[in-house]
Amino acid sequence: HHDDKHTVVIIGYGGMGSYHAKLIKDNGRLQVIGTYDIDHARGKASEQDGYRAYESYEAVLNDAAAEIVLIATPNDVHKDLALHAFAAGKHVICEKPVTMSVEDFEAMTAAADQANKVVMVHQNRRWDEDYLIIKQMYEQKTIGDLFRIESRVHGANGIPGDWRHLDAHGGGMLLDWGVHLLDQLIFMIDSKIISVSSTLSFILGDEVDDGFEAMLQFENGVSALVEVGTTNFITLPRWYVKGTEGTGVIEDWSMTGRIVTRNRDAEIVEPKPVQAGVGLTKTMAPPSEMATLTGALPKPYAQRSSFYDNFAAVIEGADEAIVRNDEVLRVLNLIEAIFRSGRTGETVKDFDLYK
Ligand code: NAD
Repeated sequence: HHDDKHTVVIIGYGGMGSYHAKLIKDNGRLQVIGTYDIDHARGKASEQDGYRAYESYEAVLNDAAAEIVLIATPNDVHKDLALHAFAAGKHVICEKPVTMSVEDFEAMTAAADQANKVVMVHQNRRWDEDYLIIKQMYEQKTIGDLFRIESRVHGANGIPGDWRHLDAHGGGMLLDWGVHLLDQLIFMIDSKIISVSSTLSFILGDEVDDGFEAMLQFENGVSALVEVGTTNFITLPRWYVKGTEGTGVIEDWSMTGRIVTRNRDAEIVEPKPVQAGVGLTKTMAPPSEMATLTGALPKPYAQRSSFYDNFAAVIEGADEAIVRNDEVLRVLNLIEAIFRSGRTGETVKDFDLYK
């Protein structure tokens, strides 16, 4: 019996919906009491996993025992599902991208405010260890001031699944993986973005982007390159960052990586010219062994609480949301700017991403 736990109904029991159910099983503050999916086969799967399958969304909304609606459907229906949830007096956890436009998210938060209910977006990759290492390096200046951040995810499997191929469902990689990488940057860098230029990839012939590259310039001097690819049979590192004192790399999700910094105590020795191709170079010669220090990646501090614990505290009025809606709004603004730059080939400067 879990009288002390907040009750959740998962809407959309697909890949992510069923993953939420698994994660929440171990959570002390939330409890899944059922699911609803338009696909009856997924309802059956839910029952096999031990969760009541509601026969309609209406039935979920009419169930006073359901306190929280967790939306894990394709992106195009997040907004309508959320509006109905608020009207029925439910709080909402919504998957990313929360909506497909700034306008839709503004409508969603306005409805939540009016109903006095909480909506929090599942930007779970704020808890990723690789990201927390970079965030800590940024804040603690482990390799000096970071002035260049390259954040990439590379796959070679194309766009997965069904609805992710379709514009009407909010498919494409900018809305899918892009939203995570951009959210991580916005949460880390407390500065206005002054320009955005991007290219979108349509190499696989889908109607939606199968990847993109975006260059972001922040007012504080940081520049960031964000890249998502699904046609990369050889991958580049997950993170490559440059600071005023060194360079850092994180290769992958197993946290393989290192930092290399200039050795301030070493005597300055002119590098010897090396053969490079058919020429000689001193500029590109590796620094002498004494000139640099190679170290391990720092151990990151942990986020103060899990997403679910934080959500429970927020609806109790006991804590602030870790994922704030003004940050989510900035990310959606940024996504619109990246689409605009990608489609026009122009650098976008005429927007205010910092409110
Ligand atoms: P999926 O296709 O595996 O599952 C979606 C499910 O929603 C399907 O079972 C489908 O039948 C159901 N559905 C569709 N319309 C519905 C409706 N109107 N009402 C009820 N059910 C409906 O997709 P997925 O990969 O699980 O993605 C779902 C959402 O989760 C997307 O918004 C996606 O971006 C997000 N997601 C987030 C992460 C993350 O790490 N945060 C990871 C994967 C997916």
